[in-house]
Amino acid sequence: MTATTRHRHWIDGGDAPPDGGDAPPDGGSRLTTLDPATREPGDEIAAGTAADVDRAVAAAERARHGWAALSPAGRSAVLHRIADAIEADADTLMDLERACTGKIPAQLRLEVDLSAQYFRYYAGVVRAAGQGSVVEQGAGVHTYTRYEPYGVVGVITPWNLPLNQACRALAPALAMGNAVVAKPSEFTSVSTLRLARLASRAGLPDGVLNVVTGTGPEAGAALAAHPGVRRLAFTGSVATGRRLAEVAAGRLIPLTLELGGKSPLLVFADADLERAVAAAVAALAANSGQVCSATTRLLVEESVHDEVVERVVAAVEKLQPGVDFGPLITEAQYEKVLGFLAGTPGAVTGGGPYTEGPAARGLYIRPTVYARVDPAARIAREEVFGPVLVTMAFRDEADALALANDTDYGLVAALWSGDLARGLRLAERIDAGQVAVNGGPLTVETPFGGYKRSGYGREKGLAALHEYAQLKTVSAQLW
Ligand code: NAD
Repeated sequence: MTATTRHRHWIDGGDAPPDGGDAPPDGGSRLTTLDPATREPGDEIAAGTAADVDRAVAAAERARHGWAALSPAGRSAVLHRIADAIEADADTLMDLERACTGKIPAQLRLEVDLSAQYFRYYAGVVRAAGQGSVVEQGAGVHTYTRYEPYGVVGVITPWNLPLNQACRALAPALAMGNAVVAKPSEFTSVSTLRLARLASRAGLPDGVLNVVTGTGPEAGAALAAHPGVRRLAFTGSVATGRRLAEVAAGRLIPLTLELGGKSPLLVFADADLERAVAAAVAALAANSGQVCSATTRLLVEESVHDEVVERVVAAVEKLQPGVDFGPLITEAQYEKVLGFLAGTPGAVTGGGPYTEGPAARGLYIRPTVYARVDPAARIAREEVFGPVLVTMAFRDEADALALANDTDYGLVAALWSGDLARGLRLAERIDAGQVAVNGGPLTVETPFGGYKRSGYGREKGLAALHEYAQLKTVSAQLW
């Protein structure tokens, strides 16, 4: 793949305009992607327009009936082959993703593996849980329910985990028999285009998965507003989520909103501090903190607060840019994080960009820790979406709970304590869609979604399968 590869949309099982020429689809313009590790320009994508969205929705509309008519077992077989194709193509997918995100190899591997797992998982569960049930109404009546797809689903995804987040929504939507038009982030579209090509080769019928690239205000807004789209799934910022919720309300269509977070990581004095410290460091380092579920509010019991902070800072200072963590993915996000740092003096470590060495070429920011921050401070309340951790001390369990819930968000929480009963007690009272106690795993199987401003609806797990279907009741009087 050269730096000047030009990508077209993927519509109706193909990527070329009918004339096979080099002109941008529908005469539109192009957008250039950026390698944030070097700030060098990379591939070009088509800047999609409402006309491109129209073509994609029309293709999906044509394809949806045939796809929905397959049995769950028939769709499952195709989904398994897509998972196989992702696994076989992992090196290319990782290269494409790296070129516009600068992610480190371990992170890329994790995301591509998980992308395949979504297809594998929903290929399995749709066969067991994709069907309705019989409702007993007494003699002479046969009543049953069935899950039916919405038809054409619009999936709009962000730049932080591009392929992974696309697959998280696409796999259950396709499993339930919907056709999809996806609109990936304009900064990171290429892996989603590649996925559509792989899916087509794996036997997904033409038009069942279409990808229109371009900006949010143009391609994304056209997709959300399109009368042929019967459901939306959105992952991204609160501001865009709110706008899409208004559009969906106006059109009376359902949508899933997976938005931001400012999630707490609670550490009690009786916790396994070594593991808790490692979790805190991972929260800041994984994807450079550009993870919606990053637990970057570190709440520590007063008696061990300073020791924990000392250990976290010592570990953070060993992290190497480009080895242990990647750059910020977009220029705008880089500037936003630097703005947070400039407005918050007094970092214990970090606090700015790299100014020399190879990292200075890219959008790398020094892993940063602020200790004992004021809970009312902007850095303590707003999602930074960068390698920045803030700490606060708490006195007791009640104080810990109050601090944990003192946020507009509610995506996840992590809690470390030697007292499991306390962990579970607090897990029930923390306002978040998922709580990990002592490192409990959150996987493809575990439903994921927000409380409060973090959104609504659920991705992952069995819950997401039924998000992408509507339940119909059929009742027949037999005699
Ligand atoms: P964003 O809202 O700017 O963009 C997300 C997507 O929406 C992109 O594809 C963009 O082109 C599109 N978009 C933008 N404006 C639009 C409009 N008017 N109409 C339709 N589509 C539009 O978010 P981002 O900056 O790409 O992503 C970062 C945010 O995403 C963070 O706040 C992060 O917390 C959140 N996020 C949440 C989850 C989750 O699962 N909860 C996962 C990852 C990221």
